[in-house]
Amino acid sequence: MVAVRRAIVPFLLAGALLLTGCSDDVPAAPVPLTTRTVTPTTVTSAPSPVTSPVLSSSVAAPPPVASGRVVVLDPGHNGGNGSHPAEINRQVPAGRGQTKPCNTTGTATNAGYPEHAFTWDVAQRVGKALAGKGIRVVYTRQNDTGVGPCVDRRAAIGNEAAADAVVSIHADGSTAAGANGFHVAYSAPPLNAAQGEPSTRLAQVVRDTLRTSGFSTSNYIGGNGLSARSDLGGLNLSTRPAVLVECGNMRNAAEAARMTSEEGRQQYASTLAAAIEAYLAS
Ligand code: ZN
Repeated sequence: MVAVRRAIVPFLLAGALLLTGCSDDVPAAPVPLTTRTVTPTTVTSAPSPVTSPVLSSSVAAPPPVASGRVVVLDPGHNGGNGSHPAEINRQVPAGRGQTKPCNTTGTATNAGYPEHAFTWDVAQRVGKALAGKGIRVVYTRQNDTGVGPCVDRRAAIGNEAAADAVVSIHADGSTAAGANGFHVAYSAPPLNAAQGEPSTRLAQVVRDTLRTSGFSTSNYIGGNGLSARSDLGGLNLSTRPAVLVECGNMRNAAEAARMTSEEGRQQYASTLAAAIEAYLAS
């Protein structure tokens, strides 16, 4: 069981940023990719009901994973980011010749449950499941009270670990009415071989496993639960198969309830762990 310390002060200090959502994860402009498919936005006026995942009956047990595999788990943001604006606003390399802020505060539910606490807890649960299968797990941060690390450092951790898979865990903060569902982002156009077929396959396996487990794909970003992105530093700088999962929208009442509950976080974690196992075995 993972103890989570909720960072109240950073949350208060970062209120303005938090209202803007998971700002590091939201594209500033449409991604100019010919391969990107965009589903027409069909946002309803009321939150859509979220079907409860039925994990035990819908997720097939993946084949055994070969020994010596390494997975890097990257819980988005950090509990101390909100109280250290100068450090997290520092510009760092983000790939494709761009720079971006070192890190961001992330978003929160309307009731104040912060994204960094959600991602930290889910990552710990995923890591515990993977370690139980003999997979070596490396985290990009060691607690939920620190600052950063910056997006370029997060990518470097995956690269230095020679990770077989890198999974960044986030949750979104869209205030659009009815916006809900998960999506999986991957770097495109790819900047190296790992960002090609391996990363897109990892994205598809994670998408398929989440969907099979009863999680709804996003109705407001990407297409069919996938989002090709050229602006995410952590993905751009990765030389390993890497994806970023936006587990859902923390501003959606039903998804916020799931993310806030320990049971809900375990459902996300069990599904992500099964997805990573399936990818490694494929
Ligand atoms: Zn985020």
